Amino acid sequence: MSRTTPGGFTSTAQADWYGGQFTKEQSEASHRQRRERKAKAAADAARGPAPLPETGDPAWGVPVYGKDLAVGDTIVYLGQHYPVDRFEPYRGSLRGALGAETRTACSGDWEMTIGPNAVIRILPREEAEQPMPSAGSGRELPQLAVGCPTCQAEPGDLCTSHSGTRPRRNDTHQTRTAAWAKSGKGGDR
Ligand SMILES: [Zn+2]
Repeated sequence: MSRTTPGGFTSTAQADWYGGQFTKEQSEASHRQRRERKAKAAADAARGPAPLPETGDPAWGVPVYGKDLAVGDTIVYLGQHYPVDRFEPYRGSLRGALGAETRTACSGDWEMTIGPNAVIRILPREEAEQPMPSAGSGRELPQLAVGCPTCQAEPGDLCTSHSGTRPRRNDTHQTRTAAWAKSGKGGDR
């Protein structure tokens, strides 16, 4: 193809037709990109919606049935966290469809209708903030068998953070794990 204009057009008439806004190459590239975008969009539509996230994805919370939801649970909804502070009776018209045990979970001003068999996603309960220490929590930590050199927790008691104001339910100080391993109570040896 002969090039008679600096923009790559074969004639000044063609260059004029393109309005001088694009060179011929730019114009063809832009048409090609548009075609490719269209084809990609069609392929995406044919594939259907993206698969649901795995149940195990911690960002989405863990699924529980509505009837098992309790005050203190934190609902994960559209990426937001809503700590349930109370339940109110459901007075809406869907009671028959959703089940007699349908409740309204409230988090401040936020409300969510909860059918007993609805699948609700909440933060894992052992990781959620709990205002009151509950008996029995943290007992799965074997290193509690020994005292903690860091926070001076007695054997059997949880480690505490923030100068003793906050019990650590999910872990202990590393020094305690090390002390436990050294004590021979680990059972692995
Ligand atoms: Zn400790």
